[in-house]
Amino acid sequence: MIQARSRLHHWYAENKRDLPWRSEPSPYRIWLSEIILQQTRVAQGMDYYLRFVDAFPTVFDLANAEEDSILKLWQGLGYYNRARNLHAAAKQVVTEHSGSFPDDYDGLLSLKGVGPYTAAAIASIAYHLPHAVVDGNVIRVLARVHGIEAPVDQGLTLKEIQNLANAFLSRAHPGDHNQAVMELGALVCTPRTPNCVACPLRAECKAHKLDLIDSIPIKSKKIKRRSRFFHYIIATEAGKTAIQQRGEKDIWAGLYQFPLIETTTDETLTDELIIAHLNLNKINVVRVNAVAKHVLSHQDIYTRFYHTELQLEQLADCKLVTLEELHTFALPRLIDRYLENKSLSEGKKRH
Ligand code: SF4
Repeated sequence: MIQARSRLHHWYAENKRDLPWRSEPSPYRIWLSEIILQQTRVAQGMDYYLRFVDAFPTVFDLANAEEDSILKLWQGLGYYNRARNLHAAAKQVVTEHSGSFPDDYDGLLSLKGVGPYTAAAIASIAYHLPHAVVDGNVIRVLARVHGIEAPVDQGLTLKEIQNLANAFLSRAHPGDHNQAVMELGALVCTPRTPNCVACPLRAECKAHKLDLIDSIPIKSKKIKRRSRFFHYIIATEAGKTAIQQRGEKDIWAGLYQFPLIETTTDETLTDELIIAHLNLNKINVVRVNAVAKHVLSHQDIYTRFYHTELQLEQLADCKLVTLEELHTFALPRLIDRYLENKSLSEGKKRH
């Protein structure tokens, strides 16, 4: 164990990536990077991290920001509750802790959006406290090293892995140790074709010895996917268009979009159906553009954009904004991409 740990630390010192939050490991920056990197690849999250640090250099700047400006900066990262929790936690730090992050695990855990993994990461990296992190990378590495053939998405197995992570943790350098295991999972012990030849834990690894790499880690739950069909109604009148804010209980909560009709089947809506759904007097659809399937973690979104002639005053619960203003609102990436390629008044015929 001691030798494996020391080989791992040596490997980390030689191979760790030069990531911006590593050069300045303040609790604020570590927290920011951890929240941004949840369910996000480092390559994608890096730009967002740099933009956030630039826009909000301190936790006070983030706490005092408008939620819409945070959502706008977050646009494209998905899981927008993370952005809202980020804002709420920044306010907590400012109002309940005078702007200093709590310096113990339980205090960190009390912040909105901070779970056991993030609390352990901040506690170990910023405060050198002995808390072992367990994320997807750590689970894969430890399940393979210990040859765990039980499903890793079950509570008992996760508990076993947490115990193994605690036992493996270096008390002297918990922050570097945690990052070393995660880095090994990201760079060497990858989900497919791990590079065992370069692995500092090869001598201990049961999956390597027993030729079980392809089957570990095992997952029991199959994620059930859901198909959704979105129909966005676009109209412009006197240089303005109508948008509405999404509710709190669904994907893209709080973001803005064109008036939406959702159906359970894949169909192109007729003028009559749109009139009935939106309670309108009159509409003339001049063009319908279907875009490629948008894939989220548990959902596939099929979208059509309807360019229409429509008097905007007929639309209930909408904001009328100029086309320039539209780009200042936080929009789902799907709509943003569509607007990059299409003019709002584009199109003459229906298909
Ligand atoms: S030897 Fe291979 S499977 Fe085992 S921990 Fe290292 S990279 Fe992963």
